[in-house]
Amino acid sequence: MSDQNPVFIPGPTNIPEAIRKACDIPTMDHRSAAFPPIFEAAKSGVKQVIGMTEGEVVIFPASGTGGWEASVTNTLSPGDKVLAARHGMFSQKWIDLCQRHGLDVQVIEAPWGSGVPVEVFAQTLAADTGHAIKAVLVTHNETATGVTSDVGAVRAAMNAAKHPALLMVDGVSSIGSLDFRMDEWGVDLAVAGSQKGFMLPAGLAIVGISPKALAAMETGGLPRCFFDFRDMLTGIYPYTPAVGLLNGLAKSVDMLLDEGMDNVRARHHRIAEGVRQAVAAWGLSPCAVSPALYSDTVTAIMLPEGIDGNALCQHAADAYGVAYGAGLGAVAGKVFRIGHLGMMTDVMALAGIATAEMAMADMGVDVTLGSGVAAAQDYYRKNKPAHVRAAA
Ligand SMILES: *Cc1c(COP(=O)(O)O)cnc(C)c1O
Repeated sequence: MSDQNPVFIPGPTNIPEAIRKACDIPTMDHRSAAFPPIFEAAKSGVKQVIGMTEGEVVIFPASGTGGWEASVTNTLSPGDKVLAARHGMFSQKWIDLCQRHGLDVQVIEAPWGSGVPVEVFAQTLAADTGHAIKAVLVTHNETATGVTSDVGAVRAAMNAAKHPALLMVDGVSSIGSLDFRMDEWGVDLAVAGSQKGFMLPAGLAIVGISPKALAAMETGGLPRCFFDFRDMLTGIYPYTPAVGLLNGLAKSVDMLLDEGMDNVRARHHRIAEGVRQAVAAWGLSPCAVSPALYSDTVTAIMLPEGIDGNALCQHAADAYGVAYGAGLGAVAGKVFRIGHLGMMTDVMALAGIATAEMAMADMGVDVTLGSGVAAAQDYYRKNKPAHVRAAA
């Protein structure tokens, strides 16, 4: 008997069969003529997915964390000042990475569940008339709390202050799922990983680099070797590429672009909204403090006092073979997370909601079985995808 259930963690995400097959190719000599078409297809598809027409995409055999490190070490110099908000586990880890590289991080503390404090950023940038700040870091989608921040508003604040800092965006749990506009938002470095919106196994760090960031790379930088953009941009891959994953990425971007990025975003929004309707029906609330911040890729759900979110996730795994995201850092134990990104359908989301209800009921949460499922069903029936409405 197969007991393979979908996962509801916010990455790694479920892998479509076609992508799994694309990853499974015989050994290839990456110096042969067979490799460049795969690599070029992957890179040009990524550019379209993130809304980028200038600059370069580089892809390392690494995870998203490697993309953070590459962005920072290629464009900043020892002691450089960077501005970042700490409002969740991922923003915290990127700050930590910068500090370990000897950068001077001006940390703006914000409550977990809130977004990037754009007003504070605006004031800080306006006050920095000497332009000591060399980079502004934004975690587009804080996966720990289920919060999506407004990158466009940060760009507007930088423009208003006429501030020349680089805008670095962690898009690991947004790119390929949520609206992302590299060119329009003036993003200088966009970081993604293969195992979230791209629906692949972990193993690729994907970085979009603007022309301005490429110029910064020429004049600055921290010690780097494995992550050196310059080696990646010679036209010859500097070491052994993860060919199977790159072939999978070429398939992934094909699938995303075939669906159409607007449809991909709309699907994520619909599915997320159904999950949020379920959460409301349970009488619970998202960790995200206001609807404008609600993430369409992951919902972190606040649990009642006395219910341990980590125990709940462990129980769901043991009893039902279903994975949910445990709370991290400051919200460890207080929340559990439902990931609803990547390969996700109404049907899968309903299964995830139903199983979460069973696990919560088992753990003593006062939840009526079926209440969340009914709320989500109602929403999905009334808000069918555009292509279904068109066919009806
Ligand atoms: C998953 C994640 C990361 C870390 O990526 P890894 O691939 O695990 O290194 C960074 N930032 C965000 C927002 C994430 O969701």
